[in-house]
Amino acid sequence: MNEMILLKLGEMVLKGLNRRSFEDKLQANLARRLHRYGQFRIYTRQSTTYVEPKDDSCDMEGAYAAVKQVFGVVGVSLARACEKDADAMLETARTYLADRLLAARTFKVESKRADKSFPMTSIQLSQYVGGELHEAFPHLKVDVHHPEVTIHLEVRDFAAYVHADPEPGAGGLPVGINGRAVSLLSGGIDSPVASWMIAKRGVALEMVHFFSYPYTSPEARDKVIELARLLTPWCGRLTVHVVPFTAIQEELRRACPPELFTVLMRRFMMRIAQEVARRCGARALVTGECLGQVASQTMEAMRCTGAVADLPILRPCIGLDKEEIIRVARRIGTFETSILPYEDCCTVFTPRHPRLHPTLAEAEAAEAGLDIEGMVRAAVEGIERVQVNL
Ligand code: ATP
Ligand code: MG
Repeated sequence: MNEMILLKLGEMVLKGLNRRSFEDKLQANLARRLHRYGQFRIYTRQSTTYVEPKDDSCDMEGAYAAVKQVFGVVGVSLARACEKDADAMLETARTYLADRLLAARTFKVESKRADKSFPMTSIQLSQYVGGELHEAFPHLKVDVHHPEVTIHLEVRDFAAYVHADPEPGAGGLPVGINGRAVSLLSGGIDSPVASWMIAKRGVALEMVHFFSYPYTSPEARDKVIELARLLTPWCGRLTVHVVPFTAIQEELRRACPPELFTVLMRRFMMRIAQEVARRCGARALVTGECLGQVASQTMEAMRCTGAVADLPILRPCIGLDKEEIIRVARRIGTFETSILPYEDCCTVFTPRHPRLHPTLAEAEAAEAGLDIEGMVRAAVEGIERVQVNL
């Protein structure tokens, strides 16, 4: 019965990023996310995107939950459309929002008038509807400063809309508006959070996972695929590039000083991720690194790993405490899967005494006898691509 979803759009402040491309991308992302819930008409007017069901078969609850995971939206509300008439709006508020009004002790009405030909001012409309609602729900008090529920009336081009307080949206920018990056996804807590944070800034992701069969089990690989799948409600459909990494690790163990193993391994990860990025048009790499968390995450170690990549390496978790990362992981739904106990390829060969402050010269000297190009090429040629979707 005329129920629809209103989305308030977030920041559109980037220079050169015009409103039109922001809206088009958001609408395309919404359409892709919503098709499983029925057929919707999606359009944008004045910083609000409207999601209207085309018929009664649409699953509005499912759609409402889904749009809360679409980046670029700051507020979400279920609303009802009605005629642009004060009494129609009053009647809609009285019936459609009755549960909210009965549950609250204080309220206020806020009106917006995008259609300036509407005969009342916003203040007159709020006063009229507020007064009538007060009579209809005598237990309610008006509180203009801290109301428990705010009734919003919006008089727009084609109709009026009535809704109560919006819930927060996912924030950020529509995925795809800021290009593409390759994210290094391990089975841990940090890298899914890092991926989510970069996707939130409007970046489409390709996932790379380094897999060390038989040192790590097929379950470890499945866990990473599952983590990627859990990210798709936020990021959209994803490809996980599963890189066979065993040969490289064995070669490093055979030929290089054990205390440099981790940093050398990470240099190979970056080289391979960069090659994947080149092939899919990505312009940055993303990792879940966090300063000082483990031996490979000192500034010197990051200098050594960064030196093999021309692309910027984005490390959004760099300044977060573990507790903060975990909080995000729980919120986005990856935490429970991340803590499943499967070995990551990093832990398998980890030396007992890794070098905390390696120098670039040391790392380069240790690699001098390796066929770096051949090792990278073989790994890239062995990549298995797994598509994941909701
Ligand atoms: P995480 O919780 O994300 O596993 P971590 O604290 O275990 O991080 P490391 O194991 O040192 O840290 O890895 C640092 C980053 O390197 C990870 O966040 C991830 O981006 C990348 N990485 C590590 N192992 C892999 C892997 N097997 N495949 C892909 N990327 C990896
Ligand atoms: Mg890890």
